[in-house]
Amino acid sequence: MSRPRVLIIGAGPAGMFAADALAGDAEVTVIEQGRQIDSRRCPPGPRCECDPCSILEGTGGAGGLSDGKITLSLGRGTQKESIFSPEDQRHLDRIDQTVVKFAGLGVWYEPVENSPYTEKFREVGLEFDSYPLRHVGSDGIQRYVKGHREDLIRRGVFIREEEVVQGLERDPQGPIVAWVWKRDQLFTVTEEYDYVVIAVGLAGTGWTESVLEGLSVDTMPGPAGFGMRLEAPAEVLAPLFETFYDFKIERDYPPIGSIRSFCCNQRGEVVNENHRDIGIRNVNGHSYLDPRRRTEFSNFAMIMKVGTDLSQWEGWTGMTPQEYVRKLARSINVRAGGTAIQSISSFMDYWADTAASGGYTNPKATPHNISKDLPEDIRDAYQDYLYRLTKVLPDLEEHGNIYAPEIKYYARKAPVERGAWSLPHGPNDRIYITGHATGYFDSYTASGITGIQAAEDIIRRERER
Ligand SMILES: Cc1cc2nc3c(=O)[nH]c(=O)nc-3n(C[C@H](O)[C@H](O)[C@H](O)COP(=O)(O)OP(=O)(O)OC[C@H]3O[C@@H](n4cnc5c(N)ncnc54)[C@H](O)[C@@H]3O)c2cc1C
Repeated sequence: MSRPRVLIIGAGPAGMFAADALAGDAEVTVIEQGRQIDSRRCPPGPRCECDPCSILEGTGGAGGLSDGKITLSLGRGTQKESIFSPEDQRHLDRIDQTVVKFAGLGVWYEPVENSPYTEKFREVGLEFDSYPLRHVGSDGIQRYVKGHREDLIRRGVFIREEEVVQGLERDPQGPIVAWVWKRDQLFTVTEEYDYVVIAVGLAGTGWTESVLEGLSVDTMPGPAGFGMRLEAPAEVLAPLFETFYDFKIERDYPPIGSIRSFCCNQRGEVVNENHRDIGIRNVNGHSYLDPRRRTEFSNFAMIMKVGTDLSQWEGWTGMTPQEYVRKLARSINVRAGGTAIQSISSFMDYWADTAASGGYTNPKATPHNISKDLPEDIRDAYQDYLYRLTKVLPDLEEHGNIYAPEIKYYARKAPVERGAWSLPHGPNDRIYITGHATGYFDSYTASGITGIQAAEDIIRRERER
């Protein structure tokens, strides 16, 4: 029996693990619009106009230059929804073992129940949470991506970088047609496949929405996150990292949503992302385990989850949460001329000047009064969250800075079959949507699990044919 031809669009964790699970059972082609991992570099200097953006695009996906926090809990990275079942643990183990095989063991963290700092946070009204975590660092994750890519090629997977899938056309009886553009050519070619796995992640959010519209697939709005990233001298934030590396500190701010800490990086750096697809400059953060590449600063994001039921919020404009956070991010970009930085002390005092305080790691950000760009309710919530943090870490107000925007916008939710991730039965059911592009996931491992599940569904369907 001939093997099915499968196109995987995007070489992030969802695409790489789909390829891993399909290798041998299908003729697998992975098309990735960014560069190979060794050629991904964020150039120095203040401009943020790269096409492709090396932070978000390239083999390894947005995870390729990530901090390498391997979240080993089925309840994380799913916007707090219970999407995975206990039997998906085998997928999580497979991802962990593959990362360890190529990156090494990194540092293992057990969840923390009680410690002096968890108690202090609870006393000031902030919930503290943790989970099983392996941290391989930005250096470890790059070793993993390189090793996994070579392994997939050895096992017969075709990986084609610097090529862009521009669109898809379906023929209910025949193959799916993909329009592919090689970055160094002036024309587009068409290729035919039996199955397509969309794994286009963060950088492909707008692309997914327009392709699904073209296929007449209705999508649903979901929650979205507006965020800012806090950075301070490493010794100021040390008590948090010593309690748990990726500490989760959360507080509800009804009716808008909640603010939680996210993506914590010790002795790391704040980076810029160019979301070309939706015209937004964003910040993010990562860190290395190699002592020579560690900095004097630590950082973490403070993400405000904007829920879908906002009818009670006076400031609400009737947009979907995704539209709202994108608009807010764009308005900060326009006023600051890109990403912005402001000292915490000035953010806490509306009328104060905007200068950044002391040193910081992202020279692409412009000093700017972020607090004046935020709607009053959102600014009040952040000021309250920061005030509570400074009660536990008093040096933070004087020495810390915040960057904006850092939005987690997700894609609109596609009506996929959960656990298989194919579009519903009908003319599009040989098209799968995985990882971040589904609109449900925001972590490396959760995205990887969906790639494996889609691959297993394709293999099952072929065996039943
Ligand atoms: C700086 C940074 C640090 C992070 N740190 C962590 C961390 O420590 N732990 C964690 O769990 N998560 C982390 N994340 C989030 C994590 O990386 C994402 O949740 C995850 O990568 C999503 O996986 P994905 O495969 O769905 O998509 P992505 O990783 O976004 O990959 C999608 C790929 O598809 C490609 N693509 C898009 N459109 C097309 C097209 N039309 N044709 C061809 N290719 C296309 C893109 O170029 C991209 O390479 C971090 C993210 C960033 C940016």
